[in-house]
Amino acid sequence: MPDKPKYYLTTPIYYTNGLPHIGHTYSTIVCDTLRRYKRMRGYDAVMTTGTDEHGVNVERSAKKAGVPESEFVAKMAAEWRALWDELGVQGDEFIRTTDLKHAHTVQWLFKQCRDNGFVYPGHYTGQYCIYDNAYVDVKPGENCPDCGRPTETVTEANFYFKLSAFQKPLLDWYAKHPDFIQPEARRNEVLSFVEGGLRDLSITRTSVRWGIPVPGEEPHVFYVWFDALTAYLSAVGGPQYEKTGFFPADLHVVGKEIIRFHAVYWPAFLMAAGLPLPKQVWAHGWLLMDSAKMSKSLGNVVRPRPIVHVLGMDALRYYLLRETVFGQDGNFSYDALVQRYNSDLANGLGNLASRTAAMVEKNNGGKIPKPATFQPQDTALATKAQEAIGEVLEQYDKLGFSLALEEIWSLIAATDKYLTTEHPWSLGDSEADQQRRATILWTTAEVLRIVTALTHPVLPESTTKVWSLLGQPGRADCVALDGLRWGQLVPGTALGKSQALFPRIEKAEAIERMEAMEKEAQNAPSPVTTPAPASAPVASAAASAAAAQAAPEKIGIEDFAKVEMRVGQIKTAERIVGADKLLKLTVDIGTEIRQICAGIAQFYEPEKLIGRKVAVVVNLAPRKLRGVESNGMIVAASVGPEGRPVLAGFPDEDVEIGARLK
Ligand SMILES: [Zn+2]
Repeated sequence: MPDKPKYYLTTPIYYTNGLPHIGHTYSTIVCDTLRRYKRMRGYDAVMTTGTDEHGVNVERSAKKAGVPESEFVAKMAAEWRALWDELGVQGDEFIRTTDLKHAHTVQWLFKQCRDNGFVYPGHYTGQYCIYDNAYVDVKPGENCPDCGRPTETVTEANFYFKLSAFQKPLLDWYAKHPDFIQPEARRNEVLSFVEGGLRDLSITRTSVRWGIPVPGEEPHVFYVWFDALTAYLSAVGGPQYEKTGFFPADLHVVGKEIIRFHAVYWPAFLMAAGLPLPKQVWAHGWLLMDSAKMSKSLGNVVRPRPIVHVLGMDALRYYLLRETVFGQDGNFSYDALVQRYNSDLANGLGNLASRTAAMVEKNNGGKIPKPATFQPQDTALATKAQEAIGEVLEQYDKLGFSLALEEIWSLIAATDKYLTTEHPWSLGDSEADQQRRATILWTTAEVLRIVTALTHPVLPESTTKVWSLLGQPGRADCVALDGLRWGQLVPGTALGKSQALFPRIEKAEAIERMEAMEKEAQNAPSPVTTPAPASAPVASAAASAAAAQAAPEKIGIEDFAKVEMRVGQIKTAERIVGADKLLKLTVDIGTEIRQICAGIAQFYEPEKLIGRKVAVVVNLAPRKLRGVESNGMIVAASVGPEGRPVLAGFPDEDVEIGARLK
């Protein structure tokens, strides 16, 4: 068998001074989706992500946390890694710039550049922005033009890279490879920057201690970009890159703020060392919050974890890729996120899957029926599905995720309409009716199969469930998209187990939960000193059910036994200023009186609750909700589409306060 073609792509190597927000998540999910897609197209696709762990910022943060730098970055890297796992990201290489193989690669690259005459010693005095890790072109006392924060005057011995020597070679390269920088706007920006002339670049520091040493030139250490960018090489073999066959990258995905480093510095370093250049650098836009860039200093950062806890990882992946045209700026809002979840995932894909399975179960004993004669309306849907395959693949190839998903969801909508028009549920038991119904159900299930395969790169978790629901062989990620055709669904295939896909969720409550968790995360110091927050206690069974979505379906009795629930009696209840859903309660649980916040204010009058006996989860870790400490959780049912909470209680018997619920 001939070797699969290789495909190598990278996320940025993220700076470990902070934790991932939704912008980093976006870059990474784009890459993971592409990697999955390329594999389904028959490529041996490898993706590198990682953490950039050196520099003065890390030095300072580690000092602030009171731990050695190595410990600080190890914990931060573990956080980044864990988050990517929660998002279903399948990185092949997680490179840390503190890895030994990376240090060797940087030192080797430096030697190549120096041996080829592109490195020389010098001194530098300039204004330096420690937040952006860059010298900036301003006068002493002026703030950073990029982030607006104060700059520092730095003078030091260092080594220079002769970037100026690469103006012409770079311009020639861009001219010969018009697709090298994408999208067009970024290409123009880089072209005019390079045409304006390039200044030599300082690539080492003597003022920084926490970095990779320059061999024989101590105390020089390598400086941010020469170090970080080289991670793309060290991840796939370093000096021995030819053995792995993945270097240079087919694609570097970056945020638009770092396009210059990837489209100017990086190719210049590679040219200087005599190494091959990447094929493409794609800069995506920013996710804006109310038209402003997210940043720690503005306090408008959105983190992925609360979203994953409340809506599941696929919901976040879908929203990010569907809502924003790749390459342009997008707007992030919780409102639009939950809207998409309910309309596209719960009512769209989720509903199509569950009703198809239910009809096949009811009418054909859980086996895919054999279609009889196709009517024009069946053939029309088949044609639409077959055409969708081609168009979706074409869009994925162009990183047109939004259009690809739009195409797939228009196929889902057409199928919903088809079912409404053909209404198989109203057909009778005559031979003709049975045959007609079999044809409709087979057609619907076949659309679902194709939709599932096409959406797998974006929705890996839920499509895996639908794939086994349809009783399909192998795993959804093993489908060869090049061989995907209408008509491959085999009649007689037994359906698999039905699993919850996207339970509908009440918007206001979902948003409240995500925002509360976000707030909590923002108030928490770094993970080096505190563990990551778990979900917030809100008195609603629906919310906990949604949160448990990502967890395994069934738990053992020992897991249930971990939850300690007791009968409590409400002693006081009052509203909380500024939180119109929350009530602050004090509850007697037999052994002590607890303060607990519950999201029931819109449905229960505080004074009517006093004396009432309720079920309380007593061993939940204490949390702050809207600034008020909550030490436990009141159990309630969630009723109706708006998720109205109804407190669990004990009307039949006068139960003793503190009695355990089992
Ligand atoms: Zn700055």
